[in-house]
Amino acid sequence: MNTFKQFQVNNEPTFHTSIVDKEFPELTNNEVWVKIAYSDVNYKDALACSEHGQVIRHYPMTPGIDFSGVVMKSLDKRFQPGDQVLATGYGLGVSQPGGYSDYQKVSGDWLVPLPETMSLRQAMVLGTAGLTAALCVNALLTQGMKAEDKVIVTGASGGVGSVAIAMLHKMGFQQITAFSRKEEAKTWLQKLGATQVVHPEAFLPEKNKPLDKQQVDYVIDTVGGEQLTRLLPLIAYDGAAALCGNAGGIKLTTTVLPFILRNIQLIGIDSVNVPHEKRLNIWQQLADLSVTDHLVVNEITLDQLEETTKKILDGTHQGRTLVTVG
Ligand code: NDP
Repeated sequence: MNTFKQFQVNNEPTFHTSIVDKEFPELTNNEVWVKIAYSDVNYKDALACSEHGQVIRHYPMTPGIDFSGVVMKSLDKRFQPGDQVLATGYGLGVSQPGGYSDYQKVSGDWLVPLPETMSLRQAMVLGTAGLTAALCVNALLTQGMKAEDKVIVTGASGGVGSVAIAMLHKMGFQQITAFSRKEEAKTWLQKLGATQVVHPEAFLPEKNKPLDKQQVDYVIDTVGGEQLTRLLPLIAYDGAAALCGNAGGIKLTTTVLPFILRNIQLIGIDSVNVPHEKRLNIWQQLADLSVTDHLVVNEITLDQLEETTKKILDGTHQGRTLVTVG
């Protein structure tokens, strides 16, 4: 066996995707060669697979911003053949070939050993969405968030949103409001731990005032744009919002008033360049919390990516989609 299958996006002669045969690469420095078991489909993957997504740094590229798998060969002393590992971020799938491939070689510095109580499948049911949700939850805990506080999670039927709800529920939070535009997601979001599921338009005041009635202590925001603009005036004194996403747009219009009169904090969250030590702790935290129990998981193969990425960009996708590779 001298070749393996890899999914590629290319812009020559026009934008297209294909599954190609690749030769096995030589390893250099501390690189590790991983046989990939699972990848998944995050919002960024959907952008990577679309012509105008603007996240791919150069073509051709193999998308897949994360993967789990088994080490086949390693020049990094920390990893031996047979070790189970996962990787997220660091440019995977946008500037470095990513997880939509039977095999991938990456720097050993990027690999996280799979926690003992987590399977390769569970690792990618969570994937970058799980890491990001945990970063948001932990940032708010550091800010003072307690189980009795009122929390809103936006984009709740999406990957980050649904994992965040599952985490908060496992941590004993009892006032979790899920913002979702999907009526059909209501039942599973409640099962996941949301105490109420509301359409954002039914909750948010029609007229956006600089300050409005204080209705929520903490916000985990995956949507950004106008939804966050309208949420900031509702955050109670000393509260905070962890902002990780832009599914609803990148423009944020606000006044200084919620910040200077209510002492609220707006915390930016990035999952791509999280320090290695922090990653290890978060993956152990996710394993300990067993958050995958009630997540909605769809499972596809590389040749079914187009349908899922289209749904993600349309905003009609629900839950997490696992990509079975290899
Ligand atoms: P998903 O597509 O799985 O979920 C996004 C959810 O947002 C949807 O399910 C939908 O929820 C809601 N939504 C989608 N489009 C719109 C819209 N136009 N207006 C309002 N709501 C919308 O994406 P992910 O969970 O993978 O990612 C969520 C966001 O977080 C993305 O913007 C992504 O780029 C970002 N992200 C950032 C990371 C970081 O490092 N900062 C890491 C991972 C993700 P519903 O229909 O229920 O309202």
